[in-house]
Formats: sequence, C-alpha cells, structure tokens
Amino acid sequence: MREGIHPNYYQAKVVCNCGNEFVTGSTKEEIHVEICSKCHSFYTGQQKAVKARGAIDKFNRKYGMQAN
Ligand SMILES: [Zn+2]
Repeated sequence: MREGIHPNYYQAKVVCNCGNEFVTGSTKEEIHVEICSKCHSFYTGQQKAVKARGAIDKFNRKYGMQAN
C-alpha cells in the first residue's frame, strides 16, 4: 500500500465575513469566505435590497450620474 496519493480530507471549518461558521468537507482544514448561504439570502431576494437599489437610482438621476 502506498500512502500520500490522495489529499487529506478534512471536516473544514468555514468562517464567513458575517461571522457565520459552518462545517463542510474539504481538503483544507479551514476556509475563510466573504459570503455564505446565510448572508447571501440577505443580499438577494430581500425587499430591503430592492429598496436600496431604487434609492441609488434616484441619487444617480439627481446628480446626473449614469450607472452603466
Ligand atoms: Zn455569511
């Protein structure tokens, strides 16, 4: 039997910028992510986000800026 062919498979601790931590299978022991499923739903599909976008559009129109 030869060893060291396959990389070690860890139960990796994933730490998100939002402070959320969860465990997933990975070849790394620890992973740092900027966005996770917890805060992803906060950024998308929320009425707040739609409202914020509308406010930015209004701001851009007011000051003659075009968001392309
Ligand atoms: Zn997160």
